[in-house]
Amino acid sequence: MERAYNFNAGPSALPLEVLKRAQEELVNFKQTGMSVMELSHRSKEYDAVHTQAQSMLKELLQIPNDYEVLFLQGGASLQFAQIPMNLLKEGKIGNYVLTGSWSEKALKEAKLIGETFIGASTKEKGYRSIPNVEEISINKNDAYLHVTSNNTIYGTQWHQFPEFENTSLIADMSSDILCRPIQVENFSMIYAGAQKNLGPSGVTVVIVKKQLIEDSRQDIPTILRYSTHADANSLYNTPPTFAIYMLAKVLEWVKDQGGVQTVEKRNIEKAKLIYDAIDESNGFYRGHAEKDSRSLMNITFNLPSDELNKKFLAEAKAAGFVGLNGHRSVGGCRASTYNAVPIEACEALREFMITFRNNQ
Ligand code: PMP
Repeated sequence: MERAYNFNAGPSALPLEVLKRAQEELVNFKQTGMSVMELSHRSKEYDAVHTQAQSMLKELLQIPNDYEVLFLQGGASLQFAQIPMNLLKEGKIGNYVLTGSWSEKALKEAKLIGETFIGASTKEKGYRSIPNVEEISINKNDAYLHVTSNNTIYGTQWHQFPEFENTSLIADMSSDILCRPIQVENFSMIYAGAQKNLGPSGVTVVIVKKQLIEDSRQDIPTILRYSTHADANSLYNTPPTFAIYMLAKVLEWVKDQGGVQTVEKRNIEKAKLIYDAIDESNGFYRGHAEKDSRSLMNITFNLPSDELNKKFLAEAKAAGFVGLNGHRSVGGCRASTYNAVPIEACEALREFMITFRNNQ
């Protein structure tokens, strides 16, 4: 078997076509006599890659002109710190909705910088759901309201986002950007580490309203200011050129698939195959997420006992399925069905789940 059934949570599957194309271009990119990795980040050949990645993202997500698209480093984790550093001014509050470990981590960083508030949380309910938008409390001094659009570890996803007038909505979309269309204009900022739906690790995409950058603090280190990167077109320092090149290729692939809408349709089909295997198992497979909060990207479930979880994971591994272990903090099983995971892999997993259950 050349390609594994890759259900890794991230870094995760990349489209085979993208990998092949990168392979073809690896040693001699566009007749430069070198790979993209060996080009100067100030060269016209690299500049074309950088610009293409920005413009493809703008096109695919229909990003309005009053937003900047930045390519940063440090992963989504740096954004946990960079957001409050730039936006939490004296007297302002960072409002966080807690829906899992990643939102908790984002809140923890903000607490080091300024005042914070928990607008809603589903922690008490084991992070099985997303709060109703009506349950979220806001304050008039909120600098922003932060949400995690998809909870990679617990397998829940927002299906309706809050809309508060005069409140800047910021979303960590690391594990679901481009899995479905979104209304960018309803967010002041969207950020995502690339290593799930966008490409390899190493680049973080930040889509941010120009006004938010203008209102940001300037008394923080230069490299941490959003304005620095916006003013320098994300070339203030050496960007992760190869990761951005791969991002451009993945974006081209999404476009070739028919765009985000088509990708969403396929994601729904893929997730349904596995959720149906759970729902039709008479309680043998138990989904972690409540049905109306289920994620299209990370499907989390448990078997009736730890022994069966272990047996399932061992047999799945032997059958060629990779990455089905739940996150080390919660255990159980998780199938990550990101954009590049082919439907055949989900069909194979569904069949495997049915056969495994029948054999017990
Ligand atoms: N947010 C979410 C929703 C994630 O899934 C992850 C990584 N799995 C992170 C943040 C952290 O990302 P990074 O490793 O790029 O810092």
